Amino acid sequence: MSIPILVLNCGSSSVKYQMIDVESEEVLASGLVEKIGLADGNLTHKTGGDEHRIDQTITDHTAALQLVSQAFDTWGPALHSVVAVGHRTVHGGDTFRDTTLITDAVIDGLIRLSPLAPLHNPPAIAGIRAAQSMLPDVPHVAVFDTAFFSTLPAEAYTYAINREVAEKYGIRKYGFHGTSHSFVSKAAAAFMGADLAEVNQIVCHLGNGASISAVAGGIAIEASMGLTPLAGLVMGTRSGDVDPGVFAYLEREAGMTSQQIDDLLNKKSGMAGLADGSSDFRDLWAKMDAGDEHAQLAHDVYVHRLISYIGAYMAILGRTEYLVFTAGVGENANRTRAIVIDRLAGFGIRLDAEANNSRIKSPTIISTPDSAVTVLVVPTNEELAMARETYRVTR
Ligand code: ADP
Repeated sequence: MSIPILVLNCGSSSVKYQMIDVESEEVLASGLVEKIGLADGNLTHKTGGDEHRIDQTITDHTAALQLVSQAFDTWGPALHSVVAVGHRTVHGGDTFRDTTLITDAVIDGLIRLSPLAPLHNPPAIAGIRAAQSMLPDVPHVAVFDTAFFSTLPAEAYTYAINREVAEKYGIRKYGFHGTSHSFVSKAAAAFMGADLAEVNQIVCHLGNGASISAVAGGIAIEASMGLTPLAGLVMGTRSGDVDPGVFAYLEREAGMTSQQIDDLLNKKSGMAGLADGSSDFRDLWAKMDAGDEHAQLAHDVYVHRLISYIGAYMAILGRTEYLVFTAGVGENANRTRAIVIDRLAGFGIRLDAEANNSRIKSPTIISTPDSAVTVLVVPTNEELAMARETYRVTR
């Protein structure tokens, strides 16, 4: 029996969707609506090995989901076959610690949390409302990026800033990319034939956004992203950690507004900011091979930050069984992985160069049998994880 679930990921100007049969885990259809609010909007819809496209102006998320509905009606499969809809929701704050069935009260809660994620939560709410009117008879579920990290201990999530101010404004570490960290840590243990509760792991989710987590016996105990997804590792366009004093300094000395500084750190920094616009690791490596010093320094900073976190998380975990790489960079940038792992030789971690250079499409061990920690590449699949979560709370 097929159990089709629709998963939706609504960004400010895009909607990604997949219809997944959670029984067979087959993707029945997938698609992307781009440039919502711009003149040259478009939709691509893939199903049964074919790709279809619609070009038209798409004014808002309601129009985007009407177009998605039209695509399913035209090219299939039937949208009304879905038994539930899962919505990627970035920030659950302190309110939502697990995947949650959406009610009016839940939407009110999400609206209250919007100041914590002004770029992410409002489009998700718009998407939820539009999808509810498109599919009013099935349950809708919010799957939170923060939920997996709701287990962080207070010593890990508390910032050493004034307690009254922190409490009043909800300032603490929340952690993001949780759906991926959860999926990948479970998949790594399953692949190794280990009991999840018995192994400690460090998971490096290295995509355009990048984050690292420490997972002890399946429970997240540390995460690099913070109040917002800006903290931690160096990312495609985000700075990751900087001295918080940078903010006031730029305000004073450069006369920048808080919005401009937020933009600088989120959109014009990271690898792109250091390497003259190159945030894609394929471009970076091409530039490094050509002797580009900016690209080289960007990569050195990226690796330095990453191994600093890995070392810190090994100390926090006390004992680490697996070091796991995932997402676009983690799954594909074998040269970057090799440098990171070689830098960890002092911990007895050893790279299997041949495995590391193989084409990896499924969980793969890339360390030698005598390595002190087993290093793995485990492809993430956030859509499948969302579909499973949606099914879990609605079945
Ligand atoms: P997002 O955070 O947008 O989901 P992804 O996880 O898809 O990002 O990662 C995208 C990044 O993965 C690209 O910017 C690029 O740096 C990296 N990447 C993708 N494919 C390759 C490849 N074959 N070699 C090296 N890096 C790659």
